[in-house]
Amino acid sequence: MKSVYWLQGGGCGGDTFSFLSSEYPDIIELFRQLNVQLLWHPSFSHLSPASHEDLLAQIHSGEQTLDILMVEGSVICGPAGTGMFHTRDGHPRKELVYSLASQASSVVAVGTCASFGGFGVDAVIEATGLQFTKKQRGGFLGKDFTAGSGQPVINLAGCPCHHDVVAGAIVALANEVSLELDEYQRPLEWYGTTVHQGCTRNEYHEYRVEESDFGEMGCLFFHMGCAGPLVPGPCNKLLWNQHSSKPRAGIPCFGCTDPDFPRATPFFQTPNIEGIPLSLPMGVNRAHYMVYKGMAAAAAPEHLKNRKSKV
Ligand code: SF4
Repeated sequence: MKSVYWLQGGGCGGDTFSFLSSEYPDIIELFRQLNVQLLWHPSFSHLSPASHEDLLAQIHSGEQTLDILMVEGSVICGPAGTGMFHTRDGHPRKELVYSLASQASSVVAVGTCASFGGFGVDAVIEATGLQFTKKQRGGFLGKDFTAGSGQPVINLAGCPCHHDVVAGAIVALANEVSLELDEYQRPLEWYGTTVHQGCTRNEYHEYRVEESDFGEMGCLFFHMGCAGPLVPGPCNKLLWNQHSSKPRAGIPCFGCTDPDFPRATPFFQTPNIEGIPLSLPMGVNRAHYMVYKGMAAAAAPEHLKNRKSKV
């Protein structure tokens, strides 16, 4: 039987809410089928404070094995590196992050704050991710950290991370399946393709049929700030509530799986020069892209250009 401990760091709890949305299977059935013991989760567990302390003592002594440590939220190191902005019984919570990570066979960062620091990196709280601070390798545990299994921290980026990704990572680790990671330690299984892939608006993107306001059918990349072609993630393949995604529903992708999230520019605008976005799809040559998009717009089918439907 594998064991899981879920530690809450500096975050909003959105990844827990996402995980609670798991349906096929739900989280209780997931743990039951995997024969996984959830040692602790701050929202789901009913241990008394004293029993929780006993559990931590057992983990630290090695009496209780810790197979998978899931960390949600950033590690808060402020003020001045002390960590005293986020404490537990008068001690910096970051000490608990370090001691549990040292005991675990696998360490998983759930969400972008745990992975890369997220919203608190440039703030007075001095937030960092477990093994990255934005794009810089190192983070709280250091660039050379590996868990007991030999793998570095597994970053399940997203704000929040999709529940099927969290569940899938637990399934893999409970079965001791090694996950292949990209340069920012995100599993290629879910972060090997862009959010753009699978979007129902792809045909509009292809012919540069654009939207400049909400509520219609075109592509949101050119004016509305959609980051779908710029970032990896499964949002248009693993649908939210088994039903939809932000771009499918007409809301631009904010690029929440990117180490630099949240970006400095407004979420609902595309910074551009002469109508061509400053940031182009991954790996694209700017000059070629401008020629291609000009020709594509001229070739756009009438039924796309004359779209009338509301989403
Ligand atoms: S709306 Fe976004 S994700 Fe969808 S096709 Fe356009 S750029 Fe891609």
